[in-house]
Amino acid sequence: MTGGLLLLALVLAAAAPPPVPGDTPPPTMRCFIAAYPETVCGGSADALALCDGARIPWDDGRDKSDFDTLLNAPDLQDTVSMRYRPGRDYASPPPLNFEPGRIRYVPFFEALYGATRAEVKAKLAPVRWLLASGGKVVQMTRVNGVAAALQRVSDDIERELPRELRELAAKCSGTFVWREIHGTGRRSMHSFGVAIDVGVARSDYWDWTRPDKDGRYRYRNRFPLEVVEIFERHGFVWGGKWYHFDTMHFEYRPELLTPPCVDTPVTTP
Ligand SMILES: [Zn+2]
Repeated sequence: MTGGLLLLALVLAAAAPPPVPGDTPPPTMRCFIAAYPETVCGGSADALALCDGARIPWDDGRDKSDFDTLLNAPDLQDTVSMRYRPGRDYASPPPLNFEPGRIRYVPFFEALYGATRAEVKAKLAPVRWLLASGGKVVQMTRVNGVAAALQRVSDDIERELPRELRELAAKCSGTFVWREIHGTGRRSMHSFGVAIDVGVARSDYWDWTRPDKDGRYRYRNRFPLEVVEIFERHGFVWGGKWYHFDTMHFEYRPELLTPPCVDTPVTTP
């Protein structure tokens, strides 16, 4: 080998290893990379890479055809396996166990927002929630710009909607609370300062109803879709689009509003 070629070989050996063919982020992992630029810095076939160096496993290889397994033990990939459809043209009633956004891999949110009450609390920021319509100052996380996004929701509702809807949305019954979902061992998204409940006077919740003789819950919604559309515009999904509906509940899940994870309605001219 000539000296020049040897030098070239040494330089190549010292450089970063070339990417393994196929070791690129799966299509739906790109939803996270695009949606969380402040905290997610890339990914490979097997893990999402957070900017602080943490890696979130993508696929645990387990079969999730059983809904309880999907709900109680999902991996990150499963959380975007159902596509959320923004806007008024959504499946109503939602099909059985159709829950885009209700499937959550908690270690991902703990890594983003904090894994203890104190860690989450240290990152909260105030949001002036519909103060001109009877609202109040509430606390949301400032990580990923969530508090700023909720402030934009408030500003748009104040500017765009009639008084009746403004006053309904102004009634907020909770943002940050470190707790588990009632009756389950699953951590509520309210624990991370990314969820808000509003308009309880016109809200419906699957667990307030009785299933029919076939065990099916009957869908009900009285919450105005004008408010829903403004939340969605700023990265929040609505619990009113789930089979297990929770129509006062919104949570910041911009990955579900990012292609290819979002179900964009086909518009006909
Ligand atoms: Zn809620």
